Amino acid sequence: MAAKRLMETISVHYQPLDSSNRQQAYLLVSEEERYIQLSANAYHLLQLVEEGNSYAAIARQIGPEVTDEMVQTAHQSLLQQIESIHQTPRRTRHFWFKAPLLSAHLTRQIVRGLIWMFRPGVSPVLLFLAVLVFVGVALQLPTDGVSGNSAVFGLAYIFFLVSILCHEFGHAAAAAYYDTPPNRIGVAIYLIYPVFYSDVNPVWRLPRKRRVVVNLGGIYFQILVGAIYAITYQLTRWQPLYIALLMIASSCIFSLNPIFKFDGYWVLSDALGVTNLHQQLKRVIRYLWHRAIRRPAAALPWPLPVIAGLIIYAALTIGVWLYFIPVLAAYFWHTLRAYPAVARLFVEQAAHTILTADAARDFLVATFVILTMCLIIFRLMSFVVSLLRARWSPIKANE
Ligand SMILES: [Zn+2]
Repeated sequence: MAAKRLMETISVHYQPLDSSNRQQAYLLVSEEERYIQLSANAYHLLQLVEEGNSYAAIARQIGPEVTDEMVQTAHQSLLQQIESIHQTPRRTRHFWFKAPLLSAHLTRQIVRGLIWMFRPGVSPVLLFLAVLVFVGVALQLPTDGVSGNSAVFGLAYIFFLVSILCHEFGHAAAAAYYDTPPNRIGVAIYLIYPVFYSDVNPVWRLPRKRRVVVNLGGIYFQILVGAIYAITYQLTRWQPLYIALLMIASSCIFSLNPIFKFDGYWVLSDALGVTNLHQQLKRVIRYLWHRAIRRPAAALPWPLPVIAGLIIYAALTIGVWLYFIPVLAAYFWHTLRAYPAVARLFVEQAAHTILTADAARDFLVATFVILTMCLIIFRLMSFVVSLLRARWSPIKANE
């Protein structure tokens, strides 16, 4: 039977992927710049079929224990997986609104003026000075504490949003520094938070160390913006700048945590050379569990230091959840119990057009907390369910 070729349905090319996997992994890159990771076996099978070899010929090449039906089944299931990944929309699950802000062309033009900041002689010096100024100013808490009316906080939030936009430029500029032209920058609503995004998908082609720099580029730029705010605050003592500084500090620290899928997660993923870190975490946990109950377990595909890193990461993740679950549960329960009263006050005041800022804030904060908690519970439950499922979903055409 004639082998069905991938090229007939999707136009693709292949590239080696820099990972710590003991076997060389590959990237399948489609015309629309979708990147799919392939294991060495999957890659070679696709290659052999695309070169025009029949299933029977491939089976003969592999060895006497392999039949042409086995090759055919393997190849077709591989094609199915690739096509299904190809057809699913890009990861925008939690964005319910997404709009481009700057075209790829404009982004590239702006970024061209910024790439010098990633030169080896420049970035360490700039970063060091910026952190020094940022931390120095942020630590001088105003004697009367941080306070202000909603206008002060509103302004601070706008300054903070500017820093987030610069954060995206940081990723884009780092990508451009390594000759990987960034795509457009856009704005989206993630759940209920406005976020900016930059499409730097082509960085998958880069060696791992460079991917780490691209992942850190955002925080680097955000700290630079923070340093500018810090200097301006030092000169003017204008409070919105100080509050924006605190917002930037907490956002950078939060972005660096590797547990949730923010920059720190990608930094760790590239540093370890393990793609789909969360998926692989489940694999490591399952491996350890099988070893513990003396069931046969397939060997893990990474060198020992990487496996050790993954085990530490797994322990850290579980530890963080175990610590936070009771704290979050108590807070959630408290907010939920107070919610009917908070909502009633809000509705009554709004109905009589005497809505006070306090009632509005309490209502908004409580609503926000409850929505976020529901999301966390949902995510946690889906994580546990996927952990318990014997088979794991074919996120990538691999192994
Ligand atoms: Zn980022």
